Amino acid sequence: MHFIQILLLLALAAASTGYDCNDFIIPREEWGAVAPRKDDIKSSAGRVFVHHTNTRECITDDECMSSVKEFEAFHREILGDEDLDVHFLIGGNGLIYEGLGWDAQGLHTPEFPNDFGVAFIGTFNDSPANELMMNAFEDLIECGIENGKIDVFHSLYGHKDARCSTMCPGAHLYNQLKQLKPSFHRGGKLIKSCDL
Ligand SMILES: [Zn+2]
Repeated sequence: MHFIQILLLLALAAASTGYDCNDFIIPREEWGAVAPRKDDIKSSAGRVFVHHTNTRECITDDECMSSVKEFEAFHREILGDEDLDVHFLIGGNGLIYEGLGWDAQGLHTPEFPNDFGVAFIGTFNDSPANELMMNAFEDLIECGIENGKIDVFHSLYGHKDARCSTMCPGAHLYNQLKQLKPSFHRGGKLIKSCDL
């Protein structure tokens, strides 16, 4: 059998199992989001912004779920926002938690509401994000492309590429973005200079 035929069979086998890349994302209903789901995004995103939550890191499933709930509560109760500001969150346990989800606009990087924001739970100034988190992030981007939610020619940014007055994401995580596979295209600075 030719290699290409084997590939075709493998693709058909994968399709017939009904595998959905969204299966590895924990929906907001499951972690107990308070705000209702929204559906107002305009087009497939050309940019993905990486953030940190600026909270302690989480390791266990219980800790990570609490972190996500606390993050939502911080936005709603302390900042007075309607909902949290990022589309997905990634825990130190390697799980992805749906924030706003694929179809809602987000305020993570205010100038870019139709682009995706992904927050890594933690700060990452003193230590890097672990391998589980980085793998989950890559899976998430690939899932977005597969679902037509992220443009295949997208670019990745750290929040601080778009804003001078933030340390987000922490230095380690910011540098880790440069170490991803070349298919995850790293965008440059979106602001010219922060020395004003
Ligand atoms: Zn940020």
